[in-house]
Amino acid sequence: MIEFLPWVAELTELRDMDDLELALAGVVVKAAQATQLRLLRFGRTGESGVQAYIILPRVSPGASAGQGACGPSESVRTEMHPEYRLCLDKREHLARLNSKAGSCIHLFPVYGSRDIDSLLEVTTPTPLAGNQLNNVLMLLRIHRNLVGMLAASDRDELTGLWNRRTFNDSFSRLVGPIGDENVNNQRQLRHRRRKEYKSANVHLAVIDIDFFKRINDQFGHPYGDEVLVLLSRLMQSNFRENDRIYRFGGEEFVITLPDTDFQDAEMALERFRAQVEEFQFSQVGRVTVSIGFTSLVSGDSGPAAFGRADQALYVAKHSGRNQVQWYELLVANGTLAAAENKNDQELELF
Ligand code: GH3
Ligand code: MG
Ligand code: MG
Repeated sequence: MIEFLPWVAELTELRDMDDLELALAGVVVKAAQATQLRLLRFGRTGESGVQAYIILPRVSPGASAGQGACGPSESVRTEMHPEYRLCLDKREHLARLNSKAGSCIHLFPVYGSRDIDSLLEVTTPTPLAGNQLNNVLMLLRIHRNLVGMLAASDRDELTGLWNRRTFNDSFSRLVGPIGDENVNNQRQLRHRRRKEYKSANVHLAVIDIDFFKRINDQFGHPYGDEVLVLLSRLMQSNFRENDRIYRFGGEEFVITLPDTDFQDAEMALERFRAQVEEFQFSQVGRVTVSIGFTSLVSGDSGPAAFGRADQALYVAKHSGRNQVQWYELLVANGTLAAAENKNDQELELF
């Protein structure tokens, strides 16, 4: 186990869940002397579909940078693998000998910020020796503890969404300058993939519950809280895995939508708005949301982008609520005056 101490030291320096998973995958390959490893990430609901998110060792020499190393790289059909469900349900390590292939396949549950949300599928030439298995289980335990600590500092307690504190950091990754291009390991590769979003379309939306105060007043604070939790779940199931959702304030949420042009952003936000309108919030009944969004530009800042989306939200609120408004269109049609970086000074967000 002592040989893994450098990894433990490195792990405790990481502040990003994806980096933690990648580091875990790398060290498990060593500890198990695995011939292959796949990290299978389940959909947010835990039911639909699974993506092989990290695959080690990297294969296909012809593949472009980052392929097979990280990012959603392979869809796996869960119905062909009842053992995945079994492992998730039992919440413990499972092993199966594949005598045909002369290998052993191990499944280990991996904890995300709230609960188990991935499986490590580790292929070894022979069953793991007792000490190898113990090492892997110990590494997973360390990973779980660190994920728990990260989640406590980065997540909103009530909804489990990212908290506002983490927004600045993540935002700079979306629009930040291209860094060192001398990519020589998988973590750098993944960061580079993120930075490639810089040149792609990115949108930011502010979502605010309509007349939320009335819900609190009429039903009481705990029912208001329940609406916040249910709405958060709707958001998590509605938006894509790469879209980051933050609880910014009481009943206000921010979403960043990378790699999305304005039509797709508008469609996704409008679909969410309609879904909320249709949703039956158990005790409270019907709830609506107003949404403002903006297209990010190169060199954008978090406060400036938030400020633009918030102005669009303001228009939505004053045009009858329960609607989506796009800042750039409001400027183009003269409803709003373009505010050149004005919001940087005006909005003291951080
Ligand atoms: P509008 O449509 O203009 O957004 O009206 P609103 O009532 O939603 O907005 P307003 O800002 O007047 O009220 C927001 C309310 O959200 C007031 C506050 O009590 C409530 N709130 C803030 N945080 C929480 C929370 O964590 N739980 C609950 N239950 N309520 C909260
Ligand atoms: Mg509100
Ligand atoms: Mg509000």
